Amino acid sequence: MEKWTGCPICGSPKVRVQHPTRHALDHCGLTGVILEGNGVVLTDCDACGEQTSTIRNEAQLLQCLGLMIILSGPGLTGEELGYMRSLCEMSQEDLATAIGRSRRETIADWEARGTQPVFRAPFDELNLRVVLMSLFQKKVVESKWCCLAPRHLDQFHAARRDFISRVDQMLTPREPHGPRSLKRIKSSGEWAAVRKRAA
Ligand SMILES: [Zn+2]
Repeated sequence: MEKWTGCPICGSPKVRVQHPTRHALDHCGLTGVILEGNGVVLTDCDACGEQTSTIRNEAQLLQCLGLMIILSGPGLTGEELGYMRSLCEMSQEDLATAIGRSRRETIADWEARGTQPVFRAPFDELNLRVVLMSLFQKKVVESKWCCLAPRHLDQFHAARRDFISRVDQMLTPREPHGPRSLKRIKSSGEWAAVRKRAA
């Protein structure tokens, strides 16, 4: 852990340094983010009058916030959507395309809901959640910028296994099929689908 002996702006030793145990994170795009522990350093300089706040391992913190959104239940808010989109470095247009919407304005409208949920019913946000999870995997977890710890990655992969594999099946368009064949099994009397042999 580095020592703070001078003002990070002017270098003066006449600087007050604080390590708050509880700090409200501003400017991250999300409302009500509190940082606990010793992850924040605040300086207040008598010489130049500047105040600074420094978050240790900030890159991981920002990705960890994204992971928390991915892992949370339904009720995605407008600001959470905006946060995930910028974390994944997507424009509103990019995201609209990714979820099969033609209008950038749709995303803008959703994000404008702020701290309110984007959708009324959990089912309505399923498609968006699947896309966000895939984007998070591609743009954060598998990127060279990934700062997440093994513990975070385990959480992500477990959630992905549980959630996306099932949902993917439901959302993947099936192959066009011909007639359905069913056959009654003599021994049990049950009806069963006749599996087509792979061509
Ligand atoms: Zn200073």
